[in-house]
Amino acid sequence: MSNRLNLKPNDLSAFWMPFTANRQFKQTPRMLVSARDMHYTTDDGRKVLDGTAGLWCVNAGHCRAKITEAIQTQAAELDYAPAFQMGHPIVFDFANRLVSMAPQGMDHVFFTNSGSESVETALKIALAYHRAKGNGSRFRLIGRERGYHGVNFGGISVGGIVANRKMFGTLLTGVDHMPHTHLPGKNAFTRGEPEHGGDLADQLERIVTLHDASTVAAVIVEPVAGSTGVLIPPKGYLKRLREICDKHDILLIFDEVITGFGRLGTPFGADYFDVVPDIMTTAKGITNGVIPMGAVFVKEEIHDAFMNGPEHLIEFFHGYTYSGNPIACAAGIATLETYQEEGLLTRGAELGNYWEDALHSLKDAPYVIDIRSIGLVGAIELEPMAGQPTKRAFSAFLKAFEKGVLIRTTGDIIALSPPLIIEKGQIDEIVDCLRTVLTEVE
Ligand code: PMP
Repeated sequence: MSNRLNLKPNDLSAFWMPFTANRQFKQTPRMLVSARDMHYTTDDGRKVLDGTAGLWCVNAGHCRAKITEAIQTQAAELDYAPAFQMGHPIVFDFANRLVSMAPQGMDHVFFTNSGSESVETALKIALAYHRAKGNGSRFRLIGRERGYHGVNFGGISVGGIVANRKMFGTLLTGVDHMPHTHLPGKNAFTRGEPEHGGDLADQLERIVTLHDASTVAAVIVEPVAGSTGVLIPPKGYLKRLREICDKHDILLIFDEVITGFGRLGTPFGADYFDVVPDIMTTAKGITNGVIPMGAVFVKEEIHDAFMNGPEHLIEFFHGYTYSGNPIACAAGIATLETYQEEGLLTRGAELGNYWEDALHSLKDAPYVIDIRSIGLVGAIELEPMAGQPTKRAFSAFLKAFEKGVLIRTTGDIIALSPPLIIEKGQIDEIVDCLRTVLTEVE
């Protein structure tokens, strides 16, 4: 193995890698040592086109000078300050900028350090909100099959991925799940929102009736489920969820950790689908992935429900040491400015047709059983290898990496979500690479 750090095989054992087949990886490691704009560079000096924006987060591309400089300046000025009973100007500045671009009425923001923490925070806000309103009997949370809401206990409880749930004993109680909306038989090769399945939202009504609305606090969904393979909501589905929640005074939480900050060609998924949730979780693109940070947006009414008690008491007993970390805020402000200056939050809409045509040109490639696309996200679903699920797509990932394109796979699905600065020629490069790779995989 060659790399700039001269690591020996034994040097790889201390780091227990997340969401990785550690033993396999450590036999044939893949090392990224630097990055710029649309590319990573590997330890052996190869350039790799980033088809995934890191993990759906580096929306403005890598090592952007403005963001790097903002971090350096802030680190030299005020490196850390607590946000418990103390303030620093940059966190208020960043919060104001965020709410000014958020969907209408989402006027307050609570800072976290990751998508998982944003989810836990959102669930706690929902439960505490109902208590603050005198409705403590509303304790149930409803998620969805194939939902991914991070890895903490609340998130895996409302999430709908078996592998994330089965090893960890008792999860949160009082959780139920709606069915997922993926109908491959009916909606295969759809561009944008699928025609069929909007009525699956009525399953929420069924679940609410089963438990009685007076026990239900909140429903959480990703506007587009990303990590389980880019599952796009059928037409009318999210609007119907909104109606059912309104009818029963249930809070609607959108987990926008992936769909936030321009991924769909609009600032947030809520803007794309024209459905405003009550609570919105974000992370990833908030700082261009450069510094860990998340933010939970809430509607005025929710925030205000906490502000009625005695003034000297803490209204919401929750927070993190690094909530609103000044360096993360500096990175976030520079990121938002970059998005705005370069029109990146709507670039997915401008490039959408090109992206869609390019992806769908793979329709007749070997093993392809479905292609889905929306904004600058896409998925190519492969027929699983007999008796060895996930193997074919993972082999495509390895081959694409060898050929200089980073893709991501989840099960037998190839997921793509490039930085929003991508050019048409680079879209062609990704698709041409996949066309070749799919003829090479077993
Ligand atoms: N929610 C969603 C919708 C996500 O896609 C993710 C991460 N992929 C998370 C939560 C968790 O975010 P993190 O990994 O930053 O904890």
